[in-house]
Amino acid sequence: MNFEEQQRPTWDEYFLMLAKLAATRSTCLAFPVGAVIVKNKQVVATGYNGSPSGSVHCTAQGYCYPGLSSCDASKTLPSRAVHAEANAIAQAAKYGVATDGAKIYVTLEPCLSCLKLIISAGIREVIYETSFNSGNSLFVRDSFIQEGLITLKQIQVSEYIAEKAGSFLLNLTSISKLDPIQSNHRGNEDKG
Ligand SMILES: [Zn+2]
Ligand SMILES: [Zn+2]
Repeated sequence: MNFEEQQRPTWDEYFLMLAKLAATRSTCLAFPVGAVIVKNKQVVATGYNGSPSGSVHCTAQGYCYPGLSSCDASKTLPSRAVHAEANAIAQAAKYGVATDGAKIYVTLEPCLSCLKLIISAGIREVIYETSFNSGNSLFVRDSFIQEGLITLKQIQVSEYIAEKAGSFLLNLTSISKLDPIQSNHRGNEDKG
């Protein structure tokens, strides 16, 4: 692989970064999660965690439930949020987009409810960034894997690609490297 190719994200990094961007739209105060459903290297749906469409956002009212800073701060009240994966699958359903044979990229390992939904939606592969399941949930998750229903893979965006993406977000992205006048206007140009 030549240098220019090494500077590009892998497909896994590319779609995980898109999931991370989707997470910035999260409306729940618990923690942000983003999901991207991918088929044949094409994004078919995206989602992030938040209250159901049309319901007031936790971020808008400043709490998940009155007196509760976060949807996961209560052991008794259920979360108000639709999880990112469920929202992505719902979005696909809403617009009639097939998810059969797709992959899903998520910033957080799917909970069991989402994993069951993912399997039933025909999605065969989960690529996630942060672990979530433990104990009995892990046992059930692994039983689905052993049944051949789903594969899970944990990945991270390499530091180099993350820095590059961060620089793209902080600066104007589409500036020619060959145009000296435009180059002079670049704030944080890497002279390397
Ligand atoms: Zn919430
Ligand atoms: Zn979930």
